[in-house]
Amino acid sequence: MATHAVYGGAWIAVVDSLTPERRSEVMSRIRSTDTKPEMRVRRLAYALGFRYRLHRKDLPGKPDLVFIGRRKVIFVHGCFWHLHAGCPAGRIPKSRTEFWEEKLKRNQQRDETTMRELVAKGWRVLVLWECQLKDEKALAGEIFRFLDTPSR
Ligand SMILES: [Zn+2]
Repeated sequence: MATHAVYGGAWIAVVDSLTPERRSEVMSRIRSTDTKPEMRVRRLAYALGFRYRLHRKDLPGKPDLVFIGRRKVIFVHGCFWHLHAGCPAGRIPKSRTEFWEEKLKRNQQRDETTMRELVAKGWRVLVLWECQLKDEKALAGEIFRFLDTPSR
């Protein structure tokens, strides 16, 4: 919840006060360094005995975790940036609505294209949402079920 709060009101106010150039610079930096949820998933997958590659650039969407032999990938999505449907953190901000709506909807469309491309290439995809990572036991179970099931 902490990260959601940061991406919520206070964070948006900060971002709104920046010039467009500075804003996109800050946002890209935050996005690429805010790896905490992804680290949790990596740690769990590793602890469960699965080995993976990270952000394979030759795959659509550069998936966060890539399990090559199993032909499976996991994405860890921030609820705000990827517009998690029905999630309190996945809402378009009330200020600068147009800017955010365009930006976040574009992310969402890109995600859909990515998923379609991966599936078409024979990859199985698991999307884990940031808000669903709190229950470590449930998360471990979900990761295990996804990875342990044969692809075909
Ligand atoms: Zn969410």
